Formats: sequence, structure tokens, C-alpha cells
Amino acid sequence: MKFTPEKYRIEDISGKPFIDPDEIWEYLNHAQPTMERVMHIIDRSLNKNRLSLEEVAILIKADDPAMVDAIKEGARKLKEMVYGQRIVLFAPLYVGNSCINNCKYCGFKASNRQAVRRTLTQEELIENVKALEDEGQKRLILVYGEHPSYTPEYIASTVRTVYQVKKGNGEIRRVNINAAPMDVEGFRTIKQAGIGTYQIFQETYHPEAYTWYHQSGRKKDYAYRLVSLDRAQEAGIDDVGIGALLGLYDWRFEVMALVRHTSHLEACFNVGPHTISFPRVQDASDYQIDERYKVSDEEFVRLIAILRLAVPYTGMILTAREPSFIRDEVLQFGCSQIDGGTRLELGAYAEEDRKKLQNLNLEQFLINDSRSLNEVINELIQKDYIPSFCTACYRKGRTGEHFMEFSVPGFIKRFCTPNALLTLAEYLCDYAPAPTREKGWKLIQKQLDGMEESTGKKALEERMERIRQGERDLYF
Ligand code: SAM
Ligand code: SF4
Repeated sequence: MKFTPEKYRIEDISGKPFIDPDEIWEYLNHAQPTMERVMHIIDRSLNKNRLSLEEVAILIKADDPAMVDAIKEGARKLKEMVYGQRIVLFAPLYVGNSCINNCKYCGFKASNRQAVRRTLTQEELIENVKALEDEGQKRLILVYGEHPSYTPEYIASTVRTVYQVKKGNGEIRRVNINAAPMDVEGFRTIKQAGIGTYQIFQETYHPEAYTWYHQSGRKKDYAYRLVSLDRAQEAGIDDVGIGALLGLYDWRFEVMALVRHTSHLEACFNVGPHTISFPRVQDASDYQIDERYKVSDEEFVRLIAILRLAVPYTGMILTAREPSFIRDEVLQFGCSQIDGGTRLELGAYAEEDRKKLQNLNLEQFLINDSRSLNEVINELIQKDYIPSFCTACYRKGRTGEHFMEFSVPGFIKRFCTPNALLTLAEYLCDYAPAPTREKGWKLIQKQLDGMEESTGKKALEERMERIRQGERDLYF
């Protein structure tokens, strides 16, 4: 099946284009925040309502320090109420950086002749996955440039390969992907390989800015990209991730547009995005950030708190692109997933490969966090978070789990926290160095001690013991 523009207009069921820059700017220009209004909006969010564009505009315009504090406090409360202490960990794995596009901000752009083009061979892919398993990773996101050789069939075959690699107790239990948009048939093909989330960023939702950054290659079609998740939904992929690359255009506009995209998906498919990402653009080959749109640390933290309140049910992803002091702050606002032990050079997870790769130009951009997975886990434990590799809902067919976490009373207590603790226990048994192991078991014990006596707690203790005895992959 081919893309049919008349079917996938950038309109929602109301018949209006779903990103209308004039409408977004009108909301922003007319928003008049008062403390009373801000508190009322925060309350609506704490009562689990997704906020309207008008309300989000008010939060964005509320830059008075007392209002900013109230917004951050609201986000903190929401996070505690809805998500508890779990932080889900994953790693990105770059499969190939060949690319026909020329996104101005990306080191993989076709015009970057210095970039060494590389696509992992089957053996290299396997070696890299083994190395990731050896660290304790259970969830990956595979990343691909856009190239005719990266067909849906090829992508599906790499996903299948990853699922098949098992080393010791290691295995990858959930493979998400970040790849160029496809037609409906293509999405069906990758769905059949068992992908978790299909993630794609609009980069900038502003049509003119988009056109400026993407002047050639397939990606220059704004509308085709904007409705790619509609096609994914049609192909049966109901677990989708959206995102904007912050720093290309005004962040205020992008935050509004992310919320608008969310309401479009809700209106058309009855399900919002599983995750929202908001990477800040980094300098890359031949690209320097446009100072007009640079997002300061203070603005970045604020916009994450606003997004948390705006879409209370959705997982929010923070990447290794951000320095650890930013991560530490925004984890409190409800970023529920982060990557750990990330390497962006192609093939760099495998030791042998790492030696070969030194000094080659294989990175898409530079990252600010070079901590290993163990260091990230160690730090999370120290701060009383529960590092989680849980993949239970996806494997039990409980799709839309983020809604359940959010709306089903007791869901987190019954499923999320126990599963997080079980996956942490596996990590401690199989991969953690002694100091992390010791701290980790203390955290598990503290969590168990804090649970009221119940059949659920007994079942968890029983599974925990089975893990200590060597069984793996136990979940609720
Ligand atoms: N090629 C596919 C695409 O463009 O959708 C998927 C892979 S692409 C490498 C994944 C994401 O990397 C892009 O969507 C973009 O947001 C992000 N990216 C590109 N250049 C970046 C930069 N300089 N700094 C931070 N993120 C960047
Ligand atoms: Fe290619 Fe994606 Fe980079 Fe654009 S962002 S140049 S499409 S890899």
C-alpha cells in the first residue's frame, strides 16, 4: 500500500489542519497568567486531566519566579502521585548511519563527507547486542539513518536478530525503533517483527522552519512526517513516541505543538503517545546552534515541568545528551525513562570494535554524559529511585500501560513497582559490582519493608527468592 495524501491530510477529525502556527501563536500571545489561574490549571492536571492548548500557553507564559516554582512543585507532586520512584533504563543502538537526507543539524547528513558511513553487519550487530547484554541492558532503541537499503524488511530483520541474541542470562526483551517514516505496509512489516515503541521526532513543528532545515531528501516533506504516526496506527502500531528537537525553533511553539499532536492522536485513535522526547540539539559537523532559539538550562527544566503537567499520562524520555545535573533535577518532575551507558559511535558497544573505531568520525553529535550503566544505576539507587528494566506490560499484551498506571488505582503497586524490583534484582545478581549490589539489595529490602502484608507482597517475596536461586524473567 502506498501513501495516499488525500487520506492522511494533516487534519484531524474536526477537519482543521492539526498544526496551525497562527492558532498556536494566538494562544501564546493572548495568554495572561495570574497566580490564581496557574494554580487552577495545576489542580486540573493533578486531577489527571490533559491540559488544553490555552492552559498550556498560560503555563508557558508564567515566567514569574513564584509561578515557575508552583509549576515545578505541581509537576513534582504529579510525578510522586502517578509514577512513584521507578526510572526505566534503556540504551540506544545505532545500526547504520547511511543517509540520503540533509538535515542541517545532523552529523549523518548526506553532505557530510567526513562522516564514515557504516552499517553494522549481522555479526557486528550480534557482537554489540552481546556487549549490551553483558552490561545488563534489557531494552534497546535501534536507530537508523534514512537510506534505500534500510527497508522495512531490513529493519524488521535487525529487530529479529536482536531478540534472538542471548548471552548467559542476558537477553533483550523489548526493541523499540527510531527510523524514517514508512508507508502503512512498511509499518506492518516492522510491527510483525515485534517492535515495542515506534518513535519519530517531528524535529520542529513549525512548517517554515522545518522547510529551512530539511531542504532535500525524502525528509523534506513536512506533512508526510507529521502524519507518519497516523499510518503507524493504521498498521496496528498503537505504541508510538513523539518528540521535538529543541533549539531549531522557539521552544514555546514546540511545546504547544507537542500537546496539539497528542490531542490529534487521542482524537483520531483514542490513544495518545506512549512517550514524549524533547532532546536539545547539540553542535554537530557543519552546524552550530541558532542562538535565537537556544534553550537555556532554566527554560529546559521549566518546559519539562510544563509538559509533565500538560500530558500527565505519558512517559517522558530524557537522554544522555543532557548533563547529569539536569537529569537529576528533571527526574523529580516525572521523566520516567533515561538511557544509561550510551555510546553514539556506531558499533562502539563491542570491545573489539571500540579499538577499531577510535578517531573515526562516526558520531551523530557529541553527548554530555559518559557514565556507564552501572554508574547511572548506582546514582539512581543512591537517590532512592528504583532502576527498572521492566517489559512486562508489553509482553503480557497490556498495551496502553501508561494509561493504566495513570488511571487504574493500585496498578503501580500491583505491577510496576514489583516488576521494577524483580528486574533490579536480576541486574544485581548478574551484572552489578559488589558496592552497587549491596546498595541495591538494601533498596529492595526497604521497599519490601514498606509494603503492607498482602498476598501480592508474598508473591513478590517468593519470586525474589526464586531470582536469588537463579531463575530469571519473572514478572506480574
Ligand atoms: N533518520 C531518522 C530520522 O531522522 O528520523 C532516525 C534517526 S535520527 C539519527 C534520530 C534523531 O536524532 C532525529 O530525529 C533528531 O531529532 C536527532 N538528532 C539529529 N541531529 C541531532 C543533533 N545535532 N543533536 C541532537 N539530536 C539530533
Ligand atoms: Fe539522516 Fe535522520 Fe540525521 Fe536527518 S536526522 S540526516 S534523516 S540520520
